[in-house]
Amino acid sequence: MRERSFSGGNVTPNRPSVHFYAVSGGLKPVSRPTAERLRLNGCGFCGDGIWNKRNPGLKLVNGVLDEAVWCPSPNFGPRPAAEVSLLVIHNISLPPGQFGTGCVQRFFQNCLDTSEHPWFANIEGVQVSSHWLIERDGSLFQFVNANDRAWHAGVSTFDGRNNCNDFSLGIELEGTDDQAYTEQQYEVLVAMIAAIREAYPLITPDRITGHEHIAPGRKTDPGPAFDWARLRAGITTGDV
Ligand SMILES: [Zn+2]
Repeated sequence: MRERSFSGGNVTPNRPSVHFYAVSGGLKPVSRPTAERLRLNGCGFCGDGIWNKRNPGLKLVNGVLDEAVWCPSPNFGPRPAAEVSLLVIHNISLPPGQFGTGCVQRFFQNCLDTSEHPWFANIEGVQVSSHWLIERDGSLFQFVNANDRAWHAGVSTFDGRNNCNDFSLGIELEGTDDQAYTEQQYEVLVAMIAAIREAYPLITPDRITGHEHIAPGRKTDPGPAFDWARLRAGITTGDV
């Protein structure tokens, strides 16, 4: 973990029981967050996903990836039109540079106790969400139904069109701009994108973009650490 200049307070990840993530050719056991770990302060709820299938065969049905842990966020609304034609990739980690803390889930559920870490003062009262989060070990979470409008892009423009939240999906990779993303994250991301494109065929490869590209000067994620060439190749071949 990189050194950060925080004045104090580490959030200790509470490592859970063994679950599985899907990789090409089978499943590997990993530590994975449980509903228990994420249910805090009587606020928020996360159900267990069913990711541990022999053949995960990710499928997006009625806006939901069943394989994801469902952590419903209240931060969403209806789309102004049914169109879903853009996919935006982000990164997030809370506190920045710390992983597997459960804080991102609580943040998106408006349940984060901002006294837990000094940096959280920066996001006090902020209400945002994304459709999905892929943690470092490949654990997958869903916060908002894909048919609904999540609050992930903010002020943004793609191809001359503003308000990307209206017509996009958001995927958060747990990480930072300058720390390499994990193998598991690329594998899950590529598998997800195949499922997403099946459900939303308007999301062509050239309509998969980064937050930094639709909000330049304001946002920097997923940052130089994200390997776009690898993703593009993965989308084409279905493998990473
Ligand atoms: Zn972002």
